[in-house]
Amino acid sequence: MEKSDVEKLFALQEIDDKLRELEHKMNRLDDVSGAKALADELKSLQSTLKEIDARIDTLARRRDELDERSRSLMTKVKSMKAKETSGAISHRDIASTELEISNLESQRSDLEDEELEILSEIEGLEPEMEETKRRISGKIGELEGIREQNATVLADLGTQRSEMDAKRLELSQSVDPVLLKLYGDIYARVGTMALARVENGNCQGCRLKLSAVEIESVKRSLLGEFTRPPTCEQCGRILYA
Ligand SMILES: [Zn+2]
Repeated sequence: MEKSDVEKLFALQEIDDKLRELEHKMNRLDDVSGAKALADELKSLQSTLKEIDARIDTLARRRDELDERSRSLMTKVKSMKAKETSGAISHRDIASTELEISNLESQRSDLEDEELEILSEIEGLEPEMEETKRRISGKIGELEGIREQNATVLADLGTQRSEMDAKRLELSQSVDPVLLKLYGDIYARVGTMALARVENGNCQGCRLKLSAVEIESVKRSLLGEFTRPPTCEQCGRILYA
């Protein structure tokens, strides 16, 4: 390993750090721009709307059912009253017929009371539904705007990444393959900073105190005496002085 190798690895590391940063920006864009939060809000509003819709649907079906029963009672009452006036009912049955009519009418009145309650509940839900719809359409517009901006940002980040990729490829072709592989493995493992300077006998990557022999080997490796660069025993980073 020579001084120029270290310099190349440094340049490579700089590119890799930038690539990592770009990747991070791309991955976090939905969060940072608020798109994710908005999409979540939208989802929750849509589910609220669905619930209101289902509730209104249930109420409307119950209303129709009550309405039908009430109509059928009314028909019955009408026909009994008609019979009564036509004289088809014997005198002694009139009292029981009257009682039945009053019974049916009281049932019908109960049905109507329930129907009114349902109608008022539906009326109460309708503005809530309209408000939810209005908020949904607002959020959709907002989200579209953010997504449009994000698409521009992503395109720009993508261009930067392509440029970095090209630079990296060019540079890596001039680095010794063994060294390149070693660097790549360490970078992937430690996350960042594959190279660590030795200062005051310490590895600056993990602060491990190095022995005199190790420090000497770092110096000698830079004079080209070793093909494989010395690495820190503790953190595994490539050491240079
Ligand atoms: Zn170390």
